[in-house]
Amino acid sequence: MKCIINGKILLQDRIAEDMAVIFDEKIQKITNINDVSLSEYDVIDARGSFVSPGLVDMHIHGYLGADVSDGDCDGIKTMAEGIIKNGVTAWCPTTMTVSKAEIEAAFDAVRTVKSNGEYYGARILGVNSEGPFINAAKKGAQAAEHILKPDADFIIKNADVVKLFTVAPEVDGALECIEKVSAETDVLVSMGHTDAAFEEASLGIEKGVRHTTHLFNAMTALSHRSPGVVGAALSNADVSTELIADTFHVNKGLFNLLAKIKGDKLCLITDCMRAGGMPDGEYTLGGQPVHKEGIKCLMPDGTIAGSVLKLNQAVYNLYQNSDLELYEAVACASLNPAKALGEDNEIGSIEVGKRADIIIADDNFNVTMTILGGEIRYKGE
Ligand SMILES: [Zn+2]
Repeated sequence: MKCIINGKILLQDRIAEDMAVIFDEKIQKITNINDVSLSEYDVIDARGSFVSPGLVDMHIHGYLGADVSDGDCDGIKTMAEGIIKNGVTAWCPTTMTVSKAEIEAAFDAVRTVKSNGEYYGARILGVNSEGPFINAAKKGAQAAEHILKPDADFIIKNADVVKLFTVAPEVDGALECIEKVSAETDVLVSMGHTDAAFEEASLGIEKGVRHTTHLFNAMTALSHRSPGVVGAALSNADVSTELIADTFHVNKGLFNLLAKIKGDKLCLITDCMRAGGMPDGEYTLGGQPVHKEGIKCLMPDGTIAGSVLKLNQAVYNLYQNSDLELYEAVACASLNPAKALGEDNEIGSIEVGKRADIIIADDNFNVTMTILGGEIRYKGE
């Protein structure tokens, strides 16, 4: 068994000092340091750093040159191994609106990697299928030619590997699809890439939408006479929302308001594409050219195409630009997505009985150690 000492432990409701976290694969005990006989354990000295639950990225397309939509098992492993350095211990490989055959190939690749259990990186929870049932009017960086009419059976058939999917509630056949998928599976239904009016979005929620794909981006905006999808997502307490907190996709001046309105329904994501962790230059997203410069990824026409955000940086950005305590900002990238995905019995917080997915991070929330299921999988400087 291992034991972490000298850390500022980010619990759900406070920062605990003078406590030790004792774990094997699971967290066994969180107790006062004076009650621990250290010689019984492999001791990890956190040296005053934060001890945080591992992060959960429910929306990430690529990293280190790889992209889930390539349908390549090695690429998915590259991503899983890369993102643990950013503190991610569980994730949803995310597909784009590419051809149906390519989407299915990507599902198969995730199935293979997920089931063989041999890879060395963040644990795969299941696929986030972004599209293909979206509205071309709000396609963003998704390819219009691959958009399909909503088809519940496609999701149901792949419900063994799909954790969530994006649909535009106003398109023909969407409401039936939302209702059927919600009735027959546990797949989380997210509204996104949508041109819906407030009323249409509300109808989608009535039928089973419970999540919102990268709030504000690729959806109808909030205006006082036409509240749009943003208005519907913010008004409904049952609906969680994704936020790309890179300060570019959404102005940081809104972070505090969003945190107040959505509470434990706010989920930080990266929406990272293959240029993540790579130098500036030319890349592709869903087969389309993208230029990366700094934190911006743009298509030739100026459309924003994913991000190069790291999830630990998203936590820090939210913390810096809101009234949240650090443990609350961390929950937006751990417990909240775990809840949205129905995984919070297993992961998302430092709590006895949960998987020992734990990270150690400095004052700027740079990750110095990542522990996955009780094993040290990354150790930085
Ligand atoms: Zn995306």
